[in-house]
Amino acid sequence: MKRILILGGGTAGTMTANILAKSLGREIKDGQVEITLLDKDGLHIFQPNNLYVGFKGMKSEKVVKDESTLLHKRVKFFVDPAVKIDLDERIVTTRKGLTRKYDHLLISTGASVTPDEIPGFAKANLDFHSTPGMAKRIWEKINQIKRGKIVVGVSAIPHKCPPSPVEAALLVEQFLKKKGLKDKVEIHFVTPLPRPYPSETINDVVSKLFEDRGIITHPFFNVDSVDPQKQVVYSMEGTEISYDGLFLVPYHKAPQAIIDSGIGDSDGWIPTDKHTLLVKGRDDAYALGDVADLPTSKSGVTAHLEAVVTAKNVVADITGTGEKCRFTGRTHCPMDVAYGKALFVITTYEKPTRKVKPTRINLMMKKMFSMMYWTTLKGSLEFIFDRFFGEDARDCSKQ
Ligand SMILES: Cc1cc2nc3c(=O)[nH]c(=O)nc-3n(C[C@H](O)[C@H](O)[C@H](O)COP(=O)(O)OP(=O)(O)OC[C@H]3O[C@@H](n4cnc5c(N)ncnc54)[C@H](O)[C@@H]3O)c2cc1C
Repeated sequence: MKRILILGGGTAGTMTANILAKSLGREIKDGQVEITLLDKDGLHIFQPNNLYVGFKGMKSEKVVKDESTLLHKRVKFFVDPAVKIDLDERIVTTRKGLTRKYDHLLISTGASVTPDEIPGFAKANLDFHSTPGMAKRIWEKINQIKRGKIVVGVSAIPHKCPPSPVEAALLVEQFLKKKGLKDKVEIHFVTPLPRPYPSETINDVVSKLFEDRGIITHPFFNVDSVDPQKQVVYSMEGTEISYDGLFLVPYHKAPQAIIDSGIGDSDGWIPTDKHTLLVKGRDDAYALGDVADLPTSKSGVTAHLEAVVTAKNVVADITGTGEKCRFTGRTHCPMDVAYGKALFVITTYEKPTRKVKPTRINLMMKKMFSMMYWTTLKGSLEFIFDRFFGEDARDCSKQ
Protein backbone atom coordinates (compact mmCIF):
# COMPACT_ATOMS: atom_id res chain seq x y z
CA MET A 1 0.00 0.00 0.00
CA LYS A 2 1.36 3.41 -1.02
CA ARG A 3 0.27 6.20 1.31
CA ILE A 4 -0.02 9.67 -0.22
CA LEU A 5 -0.29 12.33 2.47
CA ILE A 6 -1.29 15.89 1.53
CA LEU A 7 -0.93 18.74 4.02
CA GLY A 8 -3.23 21.68 3.34
CA GLY A 9 -6.55 21.86 1.51
CA GLY A 10 -6.10 25.12 -0.37
CA THR A 11 -5.77 25.58 -4.12
CA ALA A 12 -2.69 23.35 -4.52
CA GLY A 13 -3.64 20.58 -2.08
CA THR A 14 -7.28 20.25 -3.15
CA MET A 15 -6.49 20.14 -6.87
CA THR A 16 -3.66 17.63 -6.45
CA ALA A 17 -5.82 15.39 -4.23
CA ASN A 18 -8.69 15.40 -6.74
CA ILE A 19 -6.51 14.74 -9.79
CA LEU A 20 -4.71 11.91 -7.97
CA ALA A 21 -8.02 10.41 -6.81
CA LYS A 22 -9.22 10.27 -10.41
CA SER A 23 -5.94 9.12 -11.95
CA LEU A 24 -5.38 6.40 -9.35
CA GLY A 25 -9.01 5.24 -9.07
CA ARG A 26 -8.25 1.56 -9.78
CA GLU A 27 -5.24 1.44 -7.45
CA ILE A 28 -7.28 3.05 -4.64
CA LYS A 29 -10.15 0.60 -5.18
CA ASP A 30 -7.70 -2.33 -5.08
CA GLY A 31 -6.24 -1.10 -1.80
CA GLN A 32 -2.80 -0.38 -3.32
CA VAL A 33 -3.00 3.39 -2.80
CA GLU A 34 -4.50 5.62 -0.12
CA ILE A 35 -4.82 9.40 -0.34
CA THR A 36 -5.20 11.39 2.87
CA LEU A 37 -5.55 15.16 3.12
CA LEU A 38 -5.13 17.03 6.40
CA ASP A 39 -6.31 20.62 6.73
CA LYS A 40 -6.07 23.22 9.48
CA ASP A 41 -9.70 24.29 9.76
CA GLY A 42 -11.68 22.60 6.96
CA LEU A 43 -12.55 25.93 5.33
CA HIS A 44 -11.56 26.74 1.76
CA ILE A 45 -11.30 30.45 0.97
CA PHE A 46 -11.28 31.85 -2.56
CA GLN A 47 -8.78 34.52 -1.56
CA PRO A 48 -8.93 36.81 -4.64
CA ASN A 49 -12.47 37.79 -3.67
CA ASN A 50 -11.25 39.13 -0.31
CA LEU A 51 -10.45 42.26 -2.30
CA TYR A 52 -14.07 42.60 -3.39
CA VAL A 53 -15.30 41.95 0.18
CA GLY A 54 -13.01 44.73 1.44
CA PHE A 55 -13.34 47.31 -1.28
CA LYS A 56 -16.66 46.56 -3.02
CA GLY A 57 -18.78 45.17 -0.21
CA MET A 58 -19.16 41.60 -1.54
CA LYS A 59 -20.74 39.28 1.06
CA SER A 60 -17.92 37.50 2.91
CA GLU A 61 -19.91 34.21 3.03
CA LYS A 62 -19.61 34.00 -0.77
CA VAL A 63 -15.87 33.48 -0.51
CA VAL A 64 -15.80 30.36 1.70
CA LYS A 65 -16.76 26.72 1.20
CA ASP A 66 -16.51 23.63 3.34
CA GLU A 67 -13.41 21.76 2.12
CA SER A 68 -15.10 18.36 2.56
CA THR A 69 -17.57 19.28 -0.22
CA LEU A 70 -14.74 20.02 -2.66
CA LEU A 71 -12.86 16.73 -2.41
CA HIS A 72 -13.31 13.53 -4.43
CA LYS A 73 -14.91 10.81 -2.34
CA ARG A 74 -11.79 8.65 -2.68
CA VAL A 75 -9.79 11.20 -0.65
CA LYS A 76 -9.71 10.62 3.12
CA PHE A 77 -10.11 14.03 4.71
CA PHE A 78 -9.38 15.12 8.28
CA VAL A 79 -9.45 18.50 9.98
CA ASP A 80 -6.31 17.87 11.99
CA PRO A 81 -3.35 20.06 11.07
CA ALA A 82 0.23 18.87 10.90
CA VAL A 83 2.35 20.15 13.76
CA LYS A 84 5.64 18.38 12.93
CA ILE A 85 7.03 16.90 9.74
CA ASP A 86 9.92 14.44 9.93
CA LEU A 87 11.26 13.98 6.41
CA ASP A 88 13.88 11.41 7.50
CA GLU A 89 11.42 9.13 9.30
CA ARG A 90 8.60 9.88 6.80
CA ILE A 91 6.21 10.76 9.62
CA VAL A 92 3.82 13.68 10.18
CA THR A 93 2.56 14.38 13.70
CA THR A 94 -0.81 16.09 13.96
CA ARG A 95 -2.48 18.43 16.45
CA LYS A 96 -4.64 15.56 17.73
CA GLY A 97 -1.41 13.70 18.56
CA LEU A 98 -1.61 11.15 15.71
CA THR A 99 1.47 10.07 13.80
CA ARG A 100 0.87 9.48 10.10
CA LYS A 101 3.37 7.59 7.99
CA TYR A 102 3.66 8.32 4.30
CA ASP A 103 5.32 7.09 1.13
CA HIS A 104 4.66 10.33 -0.79
CA LEU A 105 4.27 13.64 1.03
CA LEU A 106 2.79 16.76 -0.58
CA ILE A 107 3.27 19.92 1.49
CA SER A 108 0.78 22.58 0.39
CA THR A 109 0.11 24.51 3.60
CA GLY A 110 0.25 27.92 1.92
CA ALA A 111 1.55 31.08 3.59
CA SER A 112 0.50 32.56 6.93
CA VAL A 113 0.18 36.21 7.80
CA THR A 114 2.00 37.29 10.96
CA PRO A 115 0.92 40.84 11.84
CA ASP A 116 2.60 40.57 15.27
CA GLU A 117 6.04 40.78 13.61
CA ILE A 118 5.68 44.58 13.50
CA PRO A 119 4.99 46.53 16.75
CA GLY A 120 1.52 48.08 16.82
CA PHE A 121 0.60 46.62 13.43
CA ALA A 122 -1.97 44.02 14.52
CA LYS A 123 -3.97 46.59 16.51
CA ALA A 124 -3.87 49.30 13.85
CA ASN A 125 -4.13 47.53 10.51
CA LEU A 126 -6.97 45.84 8.66
CA ASP A 127 -5.89 43.55 5.84
CA PHE A 128 -7.32 41.64 2.90
CA HIS A 129 -4.86 38.73 3.13
CA SER A 130 -5.92 36.91 6.28
CA THR A 131 -9.67 36.20 6.35
CA PRO A 132 -12.87 37.32 4.60
CA GLY A 133 -14.02 38.47 8.08
CA MET A 134 -11.08 40.87 8.31
CA ALA A 135 -11.77 42.06 4.74
CA LYS A 136 -15.37 42.80 5.78
CA ARG A 137 -14.02 45.12 8.49
CA ILE A 138 -12.19 47.09 5.76
CA TRP A 139 -15.52 47.65 4.01
CA GLU A 140 -17.07 48.90 7.26
CA LYS A 141 -14.07 51.18 7.87
CA ILE A 142 -13.83 52.78 4.40
CA ASN A 143 -17.51 53.60 4.59
CA GLN A 144 -16.84 55.63 7.76
CA ILE A 145 -13.90 57.69 6.39
CA LYS A 146 -15.07 61.08 5.12
CA ARG A 147 -11.73 62.97 5.11
CA GLY A 148 -8.02 62.44 5.80
CA LYS A 149 -5.65 59.76 4.54
CA ILE A 150 -5.96 56.13 3.57
CA VAL A 151 -2.65 54.26 3.56
CA VAL A 152 -2.56 51.09 1.45
CA GLY A 153 0.37 48.90 0.44
CA VAL A 154 2.96 46.36 1.47
CA SER A 155 4.62 46.05 4.86
CA ALA A 156 7.15 43.37 3.86
CA ILE A 157 8.04 41.02 1.03
CA PRO A 158 7.58 38.30 -0.10
CA HIS A 159 3.81 38.05 0.09
CA LYS A 160 1.20 36.17 -1.90
CA CYS A 161 -0.42 37.72 -4.94
CA PRO A 162 1.99 40.55 -5.82
CA PRO A 163 -0.76 42.53 -7.66
CA SER A 164 -3.14 42.61 -4.66
CA PRO A 165 -1.85 45.78 -2.87
CA VAL A 166 -1.93 47.71 -6.17
CA GLU A 167 -5.46 46.43 -6.82
CA ALA A 168 -6.45 47.55 -3.32
CA ALA A 169 -5.16 51.11 -3.93
CA LEU A 170 -6.94 51.34 -7.29
CA LEU A 171 -10.21 49.98 -5.90
CA VAL A 172 -10.07 52.45 -2.98
CA GLU A 173 -9.64 55.28 -5.49
CA GLN A 174 -12.67 54.13 -7.47
CA PHE A 175 -14.68 53.84 -4.24
CA LEU A 176 -13.77 57.40 -3.15
CA LYS A 177 -14.54 58.79 -6.59
CA LYS A 178 -17.95 57.15 -6.60
CA LYS A 179 -18.67 58.61 -3.14
CA GLY A 180 -17.53 62.08 -4.22
CA LEU A 181 -14.73 62.08 -1.63
CA LYS A 182 -11.69 62.30 -3.90
CA ASP A 183 -10.86 65.88 -2.88
CA LYS A 184 -11.29 65.10 0.83
CA VAL A 185 -9.41 61.80 1.22
CA GLU A 186 -5.81 61.22 0.05
CA ILE A 187 -4.56 57.77 -0.91
CA HIS A 188 -0.96 56.90 -0.01
CA PHE A 189 0.72 53.72 -1.27
CA VAL A 190 3.72 52.45 0.74
CA THR A 191 6.16 49.77 -0.38
CA PRO A 192 9.66 48.58 0.59
CA LEU A 193 10.44 48.42 -3.15
CA PRO A 194 11.77 51.30 -5.26
CA ARG A 195 8.50 51.45 -7.25
CA PRO A 196 4.82 50.43 -6.86
CA TYR A 197 5.15 47.11 -8.73
CA PRO A 198 8.18 44.77 -8.63
CA SER A 199 8.46 44.07 -12.39
CA GLU A 200 9.47 47.09 -14.45
CA THR A 201 7.16 46.21 -17.37
CA ILE A 202 4.05 46.12 -15.17
CA ASN A 203 5.29 49.03 -13.09
CA ASP A 204 5.24 51.27 -16.18
CA VAL A 205 1.47 50.69 -16.40
CA VAL A 206 0.84 50.89 -12.64
CA SER A 207 2.89 54.08 -12.07
CA LYS A 208 0.96 55.82 -14.85
CA LEU A 209 -2.38 54.73 -13.35
CA PHE A 210 -1.31 55.92 -9.88
CA GLU A 211 -0.23 59.27 -11.32
CA ASP A 212 -3.44 59.73 -13.31
CA ARG A 213 -5.61 58.83 -10.31
CA GLY A 214 -3.70 60.88 -7.73
CA ILE A 215 -2.35 57.97 -5.67
CA ILE A 216 0.82 59.10 -3.86
CA THR A 217 3.61 56.48 -3.75
CA HIS A 218 6.15 56.16 -0.92
CA PRO A 219 8.93 53.84 -2.19
CA PHE A 220 11.61 52.39 0.15
CA PHE A 221 9.09 52.43 3.00
CA ASN A 222 9.85 49.38 5.18
CA VAL A 223 7.23 49.46 7.92
CA ASP A 224 9.03 49.59 11.27
CA SER A 225 6.12 50.16 13.65
CA VAL A 226 2.66 51.66 13.95
CA ASP A 227 1.26 53.84 16.72
CA PRO A 228 -2.46 52.97 16.85
CA GLN A 229 -3.23 55.83 19.27
CA LYS A 230 -1.58 58.56 17.22
CA GLN A 231 -2.57 56.82 13.97
CA VAL A 232 0.92 57.08 12.49
CA VAL A 233 2.92 54.46 10.57
CA TYR A 234 6.73 54.69 10.80
CA SER A 235 9.31 53.36 8.34
CA MET A 236 12.77 51.93 9.05
CA GLU A 237 14.07 54.67 6.77
CA GLY A 238 12.96 57.31 9.31
CA THR A 239 9.82 58.62 7.58
CA GLU A 240 6.25 58.59 8.90
CA ILE A 241 2.71 58.96 7.58
CA SER A 242 -0.44 59.66 9.55
CA TYR A 243 -3.54 57.72 8.54
CA ASP A 244 -7.30 57.51 9.01
CA GLY A 245 -7.46 54.00 7.50
CA LEU A 246 -4.50 51.58 7.34
CA PHE A 247 -4.82 48.62 4.93
CA LEU A 248 -1.39 47.03 4.49
CA VAL A 249 -0.42 43.51 3.42
CA PRO A 250 1.06 41.99 6.61
CA TYR A 251 4.36 40.13 7.01
CA HIS A 252 4.07 36.63 5.48
CA LYS A 253 5.76 33.45 6.70
CA ALA A 254 5.25 29.74 6.20
CA PRO A 255 2.84 28.19 8.74
CA GLN A 256 4.32 27.51 12.20
CA ALA A 257 4.36 23.71 11.64
CA ILE A 258 6.86 24.16 8.80
CA ILE A 259 9.05 26.48 10.89
CA ASP A 260 8.88 24.12 13.90
CA SER A 261 9.87 21.17 11.68
CA GLY A 262 13.07 22.95 10.60
CA ILE A 263 12.48 22.14 6.94
CA GLY A 264 12.37 25.70 5.63
CA ASP A 265 14.53 28.82 5.65
CA SER A 266 14.33 31.39 8.48
CA ASP A 267 10.75 32.33 7.46
CA GLY A 268 9.83 28.70 6.73
CA TRP A 269 9.80 28.81 2.91
CA ILE A 270 10.74 25.28 1.84
CA PRO A 271 13.79 24.86 -0.42
CA THR A 272 12.23 23.27 -3.50
CA ASP A 273 13.48 22.18 -6.91
CA LYS A 274 11.91 24.76 -9.21
CA HIS A 275 11.15 22.24 -11.96
CA THR A 276 10.31 18.93 -10.22
CA LEU A 277 8.77 20.61 -7.12
CA LEU A 278 10.52 18.01 -4.95
CA VAL A 279 11.78 19.27 -1.61
CA LYS A 280 15.51 19.69 -2.21
CA GLY A 281 17.41 16.52 -1.35
CA ARG A 282 14.25 14.31 -1.23
CA ASP A 283 12.60 12.04 -3.76
CA ASP A 284 9.40 11.40 -1.78
CA ALA A 285 8.33 14.87 -0.60
CA TYR A 286 7.02 17.75 -2.69
CA ALA A 287 6.39 21.38 -1.76
CA LEU A 288 3.88 23.24 -3.89
CA GLY A 289 1.95 26.48 -3.78
CA ASP A 290 2.85 29.44 -1.58
CA VAL A 291 4.94 27.43 0.93
CA ALA A 292 7.66 26.60 -1.63
CA ASP A 293 10.63 28.97 -2.08
CA LEU A 294 10.21 29.08 -5.86
CA PRO A 295 11.47 32.03 -7.90
CA THR A 296 7.98 32.71 -9.22
CA SER A 297 5.01 34.55 -7.71
CA LYS A 298 3.06 33.07 -4.83
CA SER A 299 -0.28 32.88 -6.61
CA GLY A 300 -3.30 30.66 -7.14
CA VAL A 301 -2.52 30.21 -10.82
CA THR A 302 0.96 28.89 -10.11
CA ALA A 303 -0.44 26.70 -7.31
CA HIS A 304 -2.93 25.31 -9.87
CA LEU A 305 -0.26 24.63 -12.50
CA GLU A 306 2.09 23.13 -9.89
CA ALA A 307 -0.72 20.83 -8.69
CA VAL A 308 -1.06 19.32 -12.17
CA VAL A 309 2.72 18.78 -12.48
CA THR A 310 2.93 17.21 -9.02
CA ALA A 311 -0.07 14.93 -9.58
CA LYS A 312 1.38 13.68 -12.87
CA ASN A 313 4.79 13.02 -11.28
CA VAL A 314 3.31 11.14 -8.31
CA VAL A 315 1.14 9.01 -10.64
CA ALA A 316 4.22 8.21 -12.77
CA ASP A 317 6.20 7.25 -9.65
CA ILE A 318 3.46 4.96 -8.37
CA THR A 319 2.32 3.31 -11.61
CA GLY A 320 5.54 3.52 -13.65
CA THR A 321 3.43 4.91 -16.51
CA GLY A 322 2.17 8.32 -17.63
CA GLU A 323 4.19 11.49 -17.94
CA LYS A 324 6.97 13.01 -15.87
CA CYS A 325 6.73 16.80 -15.98
CA ARG A 326 8.81 19.84 -15.15
CA PHE A 327 7.20 23.12 -14.07
CA THR A 328 8.20 26.19 -16.09
CA GLY A 329 7.40 28.82 -13.44
CA ARG A 330 4.43 30.12 -15.47
CA THR A 331 2.35 32.85 -13.85
CA HIS A 332 -0.84 34.44 -15.12
CA CYS A 333 -1.85 36.70 -12.27
CA PRO A 334 -4.75 39.08 -12.83
CA MET A 335 -4.70 42.69 -11.65
CA ASP A 336 -8.06 44.49 -11.45
CA VAL A 337 -7.18 48.13 -12.22
CA ALA A 338 -10.77 49.31 -11.49
CA TYR A 339 -13.22 51.06 -13.82
CA GLY A 340 -13.98 47.74 -15.57
CA LYS A 341 -10.47 46.78 -16.71
CA ALA A 342 -7.74 44.35 -15.72
CA LEU A 343 -4.34 43.17 -16.89
CA PHE A 344 -2.47 39.88 -16.47
CA VAL A 345 1.06 39.48 -15.15
CA ILE A 346 2.54 36.76 -17.36
CA THR A 347 6.02 35.24 -16.90
CA THR A 348 7.94 31.97 -16.72
CA TYR A 349 11.35 31.23 -15.14
CA GLU A 350 12.92 31.87 -18.53
CA LYS A 351 10.74 34.59 -20.07
CA PRO A 352 10.55 38.15 -18.70
CA THR A 353 7.19 39.70 -17.78
CA ARG A 354 5.16 40.35 -20.93
CA LYS A 355 4.25 43.88 -21.93
CA VAL A 356 0.50 44.19 -21.39
CA LYS A 357 -2.21 46.77 -21.07
CA PRO A 358 -5.46 46.80 -19.10
CA THR A 359 -8.55 45.72 -21.09
CA ARG A 360 -12.21 44.94 -20.48
CA ILE A 361 -11.76 41.40 -21.85
CA ASN A 362 -9.10 40.72 -19.20
CA LEU A 363 -11.52 41.68 -16.43
CA MET A 364 -14.18 39.45 -17.98
CA MET A 365 -11.68 36.58 -18.00
CA LYS A 366 -10.82 37.21 -14.35
CA LYS A 367 -14.53 37.21 -13.45
CA MET A 368 -15.15 34.05 -15.48
CA PHE A 369 -12.32 32.28 -13.67
CA SER A 370 -13.79 33.34 -10.30
CA MET A 371 -17.10 31.74 -11.27
CA MET A 372 -15.33 28.56 -12.40
CA TYR A 373 -12.94 28.36 -9.42
CA TRP A 374 -14.76 25.71 -7.38
CA THR A 375 -15.09 23.51 -10.47
CA THR A 376 -11.42 23.97 -11.43
CA LEU A 377 -10.48 22.41 -8.10
CA LYS A 378 -11.95 19.13 -9.30
CA GLY A 379 -9.32 19.02 -12.07
CA SER A 380 -12.05 18.32 -14.62
CA LEU A 381 -11.45 21.55 -16.60
CA GLU A 382 -7.81 20.80 -17.34
CA PHE A 383 -8.59 20.28 -21.03
CA ILE A 384 -9.36 24.03 -21.19
CA PHE A 385 -6.26 25.06 -19.22
CA ASP A 386 -4.07 22.70 -21.28
CA ARG A 387 -5.20 24.47 -24.44
CA PHE A 388 -4.72 27.89 -22.88
CA PHE A 389 -1.28 27.38 -21.30
CA GLY A 390 0.06 24.58 -23.50
CA GLU A 391 3.77 23.82 -23.13
CA ASP A 392 4.34 27.22 -21.55
CA ALA A 393 3.29 25.76 -18.19
CA ARG A 394 5.06 22.38 -18.17
CA ASP A 395 7.52 20.30 -20.04
CA CYS A 396 6.52 16.61 -20.01
CA SER A 397 7.86 13.36 -21.38
CA LYS A 398 6.27 9.88 -21.48
CA GLN A 399 7.64 7.25 -19.07
C1 LIG B 1 -6.32 39.32 -1.62
C2 LIG B 1 -5.75 38.21 -2.43
C3 LIG B 1 -5.95 38.21 -3.79
C4 LIG B 1 -5.44 37.18 -4.57
N1 LIG B 1 -5.68 37.19 -5.90
C5 LIG B 1 -5.18 36.23 -6.67
C6 LIG B 1 -5.46 36.21 -8.07
O1 LIG B 1 -6.20 37.04 -8.58
N2 LIG B 1 -4.89 35.23 -8.81
C7 LIG B 1 -4.08 34.29 -8.26
O2 LIG B 1 -3.56 33.44 -8.98
N3 LIG B 1 -3.81 34.26 -6.93
C8 LIG B 1 -4.34 35.20 -6.13
N4 LIG B 1 -4.10 35.17 -4.77
C9 LIG B 1 -3.15 34.19 -4.20
C10 LIG B 1 -3.77 32.82 -4.00
O3 LIG B 1 -4.97 32.89 -3.29
C11 LIG B 1 -2.76 31.93 -3.25
O4 LIG B 1 -1.50 32.09 -3.82
C12 LIG B 1 -3.17 30.47 -3.33
O5 LIG B 1 -4.36 30.27 -2.61
C13 LIG B 1 -2.06 29.56 -2.83
O6 LIG B 1 -2.50 28.24 -2.78
P1 LIG B 1 -1.91 27.23 -1.69
O7 LIG B 1 -2.61 25.95 -1.90
O8 LIG B 1 -0.43 27.27 -1.73
O9 LIG B 1 -2.32 27.88 -0.29
P2 LIG B 1 -3.76 28.17 0.29
O10 LIG B 1 -4.77 28.22 -0.79
O11 LIG B 1 -3.59 29.37 1.15
O12 LIG B 1 -4.08 26.90 1.16
C14 LIG B 1 -3.28 26.47 2.24
C15 LIG B 1 -4.13 25.52 3.09
O13 LIG B 1 -3.27 24.86 4.05
C16 LIG B 1 -3.94 24.85 5.30
N5 LIG B 1 -2.91 24.70 6.35
C17 LIG B 1 -2.14 25.66 6.90
N6 LIG B 1 -1.33 25.11 7.82
C18 LIG B 1 -1.61 23.80 7.85
C19 LIG B 1 -1.11 22.70 8.61
N7 LIG B 1 -0.17 22.88 9.54
N8 LIG B 1 -1.61 21.46 8.38
C20 LIG B 1 -2.58 21.27 7.44
N9 LIG B 1 -3.11 22.28 6.71
C21 LIG B 1 -2.62 23.53 6.92
C22 LIG B 1 -4.71 26.15 5.33
O14 LIG B 1 -5.76 26.10 6.27
C23 LIG B 1 -5.22 26.21 3.88
O15 LIG B 1 -6.42 25.50 3.76
C24 LIG B 1 -4.66 36.15 -3.96
C25 LIG B 1 -4.46 36.15 -2.59
C26 LIG B 1 -5.01 37.17 -1.82
C27 LIG B 1 -4.80 37.15 -0.32
